Amino acid sequence: MSRIELQGVSRRFGSVTAVNDVWLDVADGEFLVLLGPSGCGKSTLLRMIAGLLPPSGGRLRLGGADITDTPPRQRDLAMVFQSYALYPHLSVARNIGFPLRARRWPRAAIRAKVAEVAATLDLRELLDRKPRELSGGQRQRVALGRALVRDPGAFLMDEPLSNLDAKLRATTRAEISALHRKLGATMVYVTHDQVEAMTMATRIALLNEGSLEQVGTPAEVYDEPASVFVARFLGSPAMNLLDATARAESGALIARASGVELALGIEGELPEREVVVGVRPEHLQPAVPAEAGIRAVVTAVENLGSEEVALCEVGASPICVRGPRPLGLRPGDRVDLAARPQHLHLFDPGSGRRLA
Ligand code: ATP
Repeated sequence: MSRIELQGVSRRFGSVTAVNDVWLDVADGEFLVLLGPSGCGKSTLLRMIAGLLPPSGGRLRLGGADITDTPPRQRDLAMVFQSYALYPHLSVARNIGFPLRARRWPRAAIRAKVAEVAATLDLRELLDRKPRELSGGQRQRVALGRALVRDPGAFLMDEPLSNLDAKLRATTRAEISALHRKLGATMVYVTHDQVEAMTMATRIALLNEGSLEQVGTPAEVYDEPASVFVARFLGSPAMNLLDATARAESGALIARASGVELALGIEGELPEREVVVGVRPEHLQPAVPAEAGIRAVVTAVENLGSEEVALCEVGASPICVRGPRPLGLRPGDRVDLAARPQHLHLFDPGSGRRLA
């Protein structure tokens, strides 16, 4: 069992709080992605799980046992770094077998295990090469092999794909997902790349300035962002956010933004208050006759191949629409943008937390 529990874990560096009171339960066999912008504390959190950095507060448990004070080597974990950290003078086979030699396994057992891992990762042809004779993707697979060879209860990965080009990143992403399905091992994976998080994670934990903003499945965090931060971080182009004064009126919500009245057609009761209205670009439909619409002016149209993005303005606020090409919009057009009530998100402008 390799459940990982973080119980109020914090880490301070002088006056900087890099990780702030994080409570998180990673289930056995889960692929949990720690996601957030640069400097939000992802690596610090991972390094604490690995035992490379002691927490300033809180406890860590692995498989039910408290490991807060357990040295890294005695934790049943393997870490894969962004910089592959391979030994340049050793062959691929010896790099992969290194952790077993360090544990004084017999030679024949090491050879058998290295062969097994090389087969899993499609590295059999490369076992005699040195790291400098490998491509970036192959080096990353060797680094994975070195983690795999130990049969750890859980894998910790810190941006393992960030040194690969876009195409290789996509294939290696799929390989790591397949590996996870095959091994059924617990994985904690750090990235700032929302595509990696959305495609690989069973759950995503979003970090902002050291604190957890939201933990949920990719669909949950995308469809029901708990805060403006999450709403803005996931999705490309980002979710449209309009400052508005809103009130619920006979089942419909009227919002006034930038001097423009938006009849948003949302259900529910709401006394007049300031809100931030969020709607994703793909959830706005131009020129659809509807009882509720946002009147906008198109300023530019971008061709993305299969889709188009129209950049528009509502009063002084920018608003973005995305849909299959052609959208049928041109700069200067006046359009009514409609969204279904279930696609509207309301946030509190002060705290940024979700209202509805
Ligand atoms: P990135 O994606 O850029 O690697 P991150 O989300 O992994 O960022 P961390 O590396 O965990 O972020 O850093 C979190 C915060 O802690 C940052 O403000 C960073 O400057 C600070 N920090 C990290 N390590 C140290 C250290 N050894 N000494 C002082 N401050 C540190």
